[in-house]
Amino acid sequence: MSAFNLIMLGAPGAGKGTQADRVVHARGIPKISTGDILREAVAAGTEIGRLAKAVVDRGELVGDEVVIGIVQERLARHDARNGFVLDGFPRTVAQARALDQMMDGRDPLVVVDIEVPEDVLVRRLLTRMVCESCGATAGGMDGGAAAPECRKCGGRLVQRSDDNKSVVLERLSVYLRQTKPLVEYYRTRPTFRAVDGTQSPDRVAADLDAAIEATLRGLTAVKAVRS
Ligand code: AMP
Repeated sequence: MSAFNLIMLGAPGAGKGTQADRVVHARGIPKISTGDILREAVAAGTEIGRLAKAVVDRGELVGDEVVIGIVQERLARHDARNGFVLDGFPRTVAQARALDQMMDGRDPLVVVDIEVPEDVLVRRLLTRMVCESCGATAGGMDGGAAAPECRKCGGRLVQRSDDNKSVVLERLSVYLRQTKPLVEYYRTRPTFRAVDGTQSPDRVAADLDAAIEATLRGLTAVKAVRS
C-alpha cells in the first residue's frame, strides 16, 4: 500500500471527524484535528487556549498564523512522517498555501471533499453528541438513535458548546465564505476527489477508500509514463 497524506474538505457536520477516525484506524496513521487540538488547549488553559476560546465559542476561525503554527509543529513529529489525516485544516486559502509548503518532500496529498447539503448539516449539528472523555462523535446523526454513553470508551455524551443554533449558523456561514473556496483551490489537481456525504457512514467510508485508491493508482500510472 503506498503512503499518502489526506485532507478532508467539507462543512462542519459533513462527517470529516468520523471518517478521519476510520481512515487512521484502518491505515495506522495519525489523525491531526485542529479543532481537537484547540479544544484540548482551551481545556488545559494554555495561552493558545485562552486566546482561542472566545473565537471558537463564537464559531469564528482562529487566526491563520496560530493554526498554521500548530500544524507545522504537529507535522514535524516523527509519527507524521509516513502519512497523516488532517481533519479541519486547511480552512482558508492562506492555510492551504502554507500546507503546500509543508508538503515539500512528503508523500502525495490526497484531497477529498465530503459533500452534504446545508439543511442536512444543520440537522446533524443540532443533534450531534460527543464523548466528554475521548471526543468521539456518537449517535443523534440524521435521526439515528442516540446512544446513552460513548460506544468507544463508555464516557458521558454531551453537546459541544459550539453546536447550538446561533453558533451553528455562524459556523456554516464562515464555511461558505472562507473554506468552500478551497474546493476551487484543489479541484483541478489530479489528487482531488468528491464523495457524497449524505450516505450512511459505512457507504461514505467505502467511497472514501475507493477515492483514495483511485487517486494513488492514477499517480502511479503518471509516474510510470514519465519514467
Ligand atoms: P472543528 O472541531 O473542526 O469543527 O473546529 C472547531 C472550531 O475550532 C472551529 O469552529 C474554529 O473556531 C476552530 N478551528 C478548528 N480548525 C481551525 C482552522 N483550521 N482554522 C481556524 N480555526 C479553526
